[in-house]
Amino acid sequence: MSAQALTAIGERPEQLLFDELNTLLSKYLDAPHLDQVFQAYQYGAEHHNGQFRKTGEPYICHPLAVAISLAKMRMDVHGIMAAILHDLIEDTDVSKENILELFGEDVAELVDGVTKLTQLNCKTKAEAQAENVRKMCLAMAKDMRVIIVKLGDRLHNMKTLGVMRPEKKRRIAKETIDIYTPIANRLGMNNIRHQLESLCFEAMYPMRYRILDGAVKKARGNRKEIIEKITNSLKTRLHQEHVSCDIQGREKYLYSIYKKMLAKNLSFSDIFDVYAFRIQCADVGTCYRVLGIVHNLFKPIPGKFKDYIALPKANGYQSLHTILIGPYGVPIEIQIRTHQMHRMSESGIAAHWLYKSDDEEHINSKTRANEWVRDLLEIQKTAGNSLEFLDNLKIDLFPQEIFVFTPQGTIIKLPRNSSVVDFAYAVHTDIGNSCVSARIDKRLVPLQAKLENGVTIEVITATWARPNPLWLNYVVTTKARTGIRSYLKHFKQQEAINLGRRLLEKELQDIGMSLDDVSEIMQQQLLQAIKLEKIDALYEEIGLGNKMPFLIAKQLSQDDVSAPIKLEDTEIRKETPLTIKGSEGMVVTIAKCCRPIPGDPIVGYFNPGKGIVVHHHECPNSTNERKKSTNWLEVEWSHDASGEYPTEIRLELLNQPGTLATIASTISKMDSNIESVIISDQDTRVSVDYITLTVKDRLHLANIMRQLKKLFIVLKITRTRG
Ligand code: MN
Repeated sequence: MSAQALTAIGERPEQLLFDELNTLLSKYLDAPHLDQVFQAYQYGAEHHNGQFRKTGEPYICHPLAVAISLAKMRMDVHGIMAAILHDLIEDTDVSKENILELFGEDVAELVDGVTKLTQLNCKTKAEAQAENVRKMCLAMAKDMRVIIVKLGDRLHNMKTLGVMRPEKKRRIAKETIDIYTPIANRLGMNNIRHQLESLCFEAMYPMRYRILDGAVKKARGNRKEIIEKITNSLKTRLHQEHVSCDIQGREKYLYSIYKKMLAKNLSFSDIFDVYAFRIQCADVGTCYRVLGIVHNLFKPIPGKFKDYIALPKANGYQSLHTILIGPYGVPIEIQIRTHQMHRMSESGIAAHWLYKSDDEEHINSKTRANEWVRDLLEIQKTAGNSLEFLDNLKIDLFPQEIFVFTPQGTIIKLPRNSSVVDFAYAVHTDIGNSCVSARIDKRLVPLQAKLENGVTIEVITATWARPNPLWLNYVVTTKARTGIRSYLKHFKQQEAINLGRRLLEKELQDIGMSLDDVSEIMQQQLLQAIKLEKIDALYEEIGLGNKMPFLIAKQLSQDDVSAPIKLEDTEIRKETPLTIKGSEGMVVTIAKCCRPIPGDPIVGYFNPGKGIVVHHHECPNSTNERKKSTNWLEVEWSHDASGEYPTEIRLELLNQPGTLATIASTISKMDSNIESVIISDQDTRVSVDYITLTVKDRLHLANIMRQLKKLFIVLKITRTRG
């Protein structure tokens, strides 16, 4: 913008505001920084051009006003720039990337953070869960400046509520009082808090505000004389005692008067006829001396003294409070504190920008926030108290927690690094047990997806779904962990019992018996001999592969059930195969080495503790040792075997663009899923690919292979095995 253009718009409100900002900033920023702020202003004005506030002012006046309130706290240059740019992402076509390119990462992150908080507000039905929303705000703002910009934003919005409809005013004020004033309080920013509260009070109860305001103004005149009288006697006495300090008469805020009237059911005069003073001095020792002196001057009211120096409030507030009976019997409320305590109580976390920025230029905001916390720790160390104090801070400033939404808008609190599965279990165990995937902010994600603050998660469940042991690798909450474990344990146990009973029945049939032939007495004798308590425990042991079913069958066929079996008898066995349905669950697994599918000749192997592993009859892993070991058993596919079985095919393909896509679509048209593709060998003309796909049985696989063979790009196709 040229100098001429600048003069031309000199009269405009935004130019006046920018001048005001610039004057404030030039007290603590150098010329290059001032220039950066100017760049941000130009950019913001350009992109908000044509937008107007409800007040009729050009939109850019709003961000400038926010920047001014932050400049009064001596916010650093990036914080000021972020304040000027804070509504661009939300309200214009400017993106985070645009800001990143022009103004750097720090500013872009700040603006992005403020935008996220703005969006968060739209998402919540705040009232019911205000506490969680507040925590979420703090947790989302990795950088404390984000919160401070947001508070400045809210303050200016509250100041310009004037032109809105009353209901809308009330709604915004309610949200402010629910969410923002407690945050300002938590961060010790009492100055902003009082301003916000006063504006909210006015917007929510305009009549009460006006009446109270009028009453205060009227009472003020009558009080002048008595305030002077008290101030003078305090001054004189403290001077006699050689104590140097500042004494100020203190006006109560309308909102706090109102709150007190409500809470204690007092009349206006009960509260307002209290005369309030604040005494500031150099150090803590002097504070207590002053306390002794004023108690000596006027009689204190018993039970009203509070020592917030020794026992600070949770946000670090420190002061001595006492109430005295003054001349004519009027109550005098006195706060005594050091200058440093006063700064902390007015500006809280922002005190660190306000009073330290001259000498330490390049301290980033994290350090500032940490400084604040360190100060609080220091206060606590000397005060030595209250666990709650620190706990609050930890939650708010160094969040180990994240806050996310259910589709209904309920907030769920989870530890950092939680996955979709953790969320599902947090909502309900049944949802955890049956989750298959999820949508995060409408985007489909896998179960192991990590959650971030403020997202909305919709869990997708299926009746057939059940917990997968692999989930244990990434869940972080105890609820999810125990949920998965107990489900798996219970399920595996049930499956093992069912399989064990089938195996034993089959073996008994092979020797001309049946479970029905086993009397109660035989059962008891057997269980005693093998030291098990219940028949289900025996089935479970068999199903898990820990006990050989044919040995148990043999033992049951002996005259003396409790006698041990002679091993040579077991050498020759003729067995009917066990049928595999594919729905046995965790106790029957399909070997990964040879990946047999229904229709293939198969053989089973007892894997102790895990159940039966099904191999292809020709699998190299099974043929060698098979005859020697009693751990093998005959199995066959049931004619109605169900499920999806992964198997691998090897393809030699013409190497040309789109080949793999054609293969993939052919396979998926045949109702099969591709699990993985490995391209093992590729020259310019031919590539060799290994594809793992799921099929129902051999027929299904044969059909798929036939379809693939029809493609001219397929030169050769074989099924791999082992
Ligand atoms: Mn704004």
